[in-house]
Parts: sequence; structure tokens; C-alpha cells
Amino acid sequence: MQQAVYLDNAATTPVDPRVVEAMLPYLKGDFGNPASGTHAYGQVAARAVERAREQVASLLNADTSEIAWTSGATESNNLAIKGAAFANAKRGRHLITVATEHKAVLDTMHWLETQGYTVTFLAPERNGLISLNKFEAALRDDTVLASVMLVNNEIGVIQDVAALGNICRARGTLFHVDAAQATGKLPIDLATLPVDLMSLTAHKTYGPKGIGALYVRRGVAVDCQMHGGGHERGLRSGTLPAHQIVGLGECFDLARREMNAEVPRVRAQRDRLWAALRELPGVRLNGDFGARVAHNLNIGIADCELPLSSLTDVAISSASACILGQASHVIAALGGDDVSTVLRITVGRFNTDAEIDFAASYLRGKIAACRANAEHKAAWTV
Ligand SMILES: *Cc1c(COP(=O)(O)O)cnc(C)c1O
Repeated sequence: MQQAVYLDNAATTPVDPRVVEAMLPYLKGDFGNPASGTHAYGQVAARAVERAREQVASLLNADTSEIAWTSGATESNNLAIKGAAFANAKRGRHLITVATEHKAVLDTMHWLETQGYTVTFLAPERNGLISLNKFEAALRDDTVLASVMLVNNEIGVIQDVAALGNICRARGTLFHVDAAQATGKLPIDLATLPVDLMSLTAHKTYGPKGIGALYVRRGVAVDCQMHGGGHERGLRSGTLPAHQIVGLGECFDLARREMNAEVPRVRAQRDRLWAALRELPGVRLNGDFGARVAHNLNIGIADCELPLSSLTDVAISSASACILGQASHVIAALGGDDVSTVLRITVGRFNTDAEIDFAASYLRGKIAACRANAEHKAAWTV
């Protein structure tokens, strides 16, 4: 059986074979507990963990002491937002975020509302970007933290986190950035970016699922959310999964070394897909095209009910994979309720030009048939 062409790289990426190879020794002979410092098994694992920490810090131009391991970006978002909100509650109990954030941010914020915090959920502009003026106007003297993602997981737009961070800094508000979709897609320099907390994950950047990290700028107070043995300087307890951590380190190292060559290649494939689809009637792009990562295409199609289950030869999605079966809160926030079908197509490291051409003609055929069907129905109902 032939497999569908995989164009859902924003949901998760395949694990790069070089990452798998790097991980394997730590699932086999080098299985020691990194906290077992008294013998060689533990020391070998601990060295691997610290090497990975250097690889992660190096992609972001951060210090290794600012990187703490977590199970992924969901946990990092929870730890950053709850942890900083609790540890800095004396500053105030107001938080700011954006309606188009990932559910791991939005639902954390909603939970904090039940704990006596007040949250402002900013609406983006129609192109998915947030207005700096509106953001600045939302800041209050008691705003303890603002959280804005770097790259949106559905529409791929890139927020101006440098400008947003500067606004926060001028007001003494902590700034958290969910960068799950950004690593390996655009350069991130935490030595110059005014960001206090940054959430990271491996599985959107050709690494394994179930491992991520939180960047915590030196001096920023965060209350731990996972109590136990005091790992990660007390920030997050739990035995370190050395093989997973090695996978995260390796995939971020590959991202650092190969991003400059990979991004233009992926962009050319994405642009070829868009060129093939944009000329169809009723098709439009969701989210700004200029301020957008190279691999993302998110299209709305008017007058066309095209269920994903009918697109058996391509693996794509309509919204984020995390809220299956629901309409997209991101597209709704853009005011995109005039389209009947939304398709998110995300190209990745391993897509071939032949796959892109196949997907382009396959989707063109499906969309044209669906529109013709809709026109036929309309002709009979007037
Ligand atoms: C995937 C994703 C998450 C969740 O990351 P996990 O590592 O799967 O928990 C959070 N935020 C964004 C923007 C994502 O794309």
C-alpha cells in the first residue's frame, strides 16, 4: 500500500535518522541515570545530557544554565506561565496573551483565571499579526507576564517578538514566547531578544516526541510545578530521559547547522504549491504572506465542503492537530468564517519535488471538483 504524501510537518516531523542514531546508545549500553554521579554509567549519561544542553543553548545563543528539560512545549508553557505568575504575584495578577495562541497557553491562562488572575486575550489583526499599539495599550501596572508565540502553528505568521519584548521590558512585565514552531525555521538570538522565558520542543524540529525545554533568563523567578527529587535546580523534578534529551540536542544541532540551506529549499516547494493553488477560484491565503515561515501554507476555500477524510493521498490538516474535530479558533480570530474549508499544508525536510508536484495536482483536482459540485447544487436551489 502506498503511503499518503506527508505534508503535516507543523503537527509533527519525522525523526531525522541521524537523530535516531545519536539516541540509540542511550537506550542500549549507556542506560545510566544521569543523577547517579558515583559510577561511570551515570557519568556517561550526565555528560550526554550536558552536551545536549550546550547544543540547545547554542541554537538560541543562550547560556546552558538557562535551559531546563521538560516533556515538551505543553509542559514548558504551563511551567513558564503558571510558574512565573505565582513566583511574581507581588507584581500583580494581570496577564496578557493573544486569541491565536496554542491551547497549551490559552487553557493555562483560563485556569489561572480560576486562581484569581485576570487575563486579556488580544485579538490579532486580519493578517494574524498583533498590533504593537494595541499590545502596549493592554499593559497595566499590575501586568505580571505577557505570552506571545513566535510562529503560529496554524497560519505560520511570525510575530515581532523583539518589539513586543521591548514594550514589556520598558514596563517591567515578564515576556514569555512559545517557540515550538520556530526552531530551525528562523534564527533566534536570545542574547539580543528581550525575552525572559521561551518554550521549546523536539518533535516539530525532526526530533522525538515527549521532550522539550524551557529557557529561563538568568534572574527570572519561576515556581516549580513538578515537585520531587529537585532535578534541574529544583525547577522540574523527574529522572532525566537521557536518550530523549540527546535527541533534542542532536535535532537542534542539525537545525543550527542546516537551517540556512534548508529554509530556501522548503520555501521554493511551498511557493510552488501556492502558485498551483492560488489561481483556483474561491481560494485565499490565511495569515500574512510576508511575515510567515517558509514551510507553511494555510488556505481557505469558499463554497466548498472538502472533508480531510476525502483527501486520502495527502496527509494534511485543517487546523492544529491538538483540537481535532473542532473549528479552528485561529481562523475564527482572523474573521475567517466566510470560508467552508480550511487546509493547512506544511512542507518539511524530507519532501521531494515529485511529492510537491503530486500534491499540487491532486489538491487542484479535488478543489475544482468540489467547487463544481457546489455550483451545480446552487444552480438547482435558486
Ligand atoms: C506543538 C505545539 C505545542 C505543544 O508542544 P508539545 O511538545 O507537543 O507538547 C505548543 N505550542 C505550539 C505553538 C506548538 O506548535
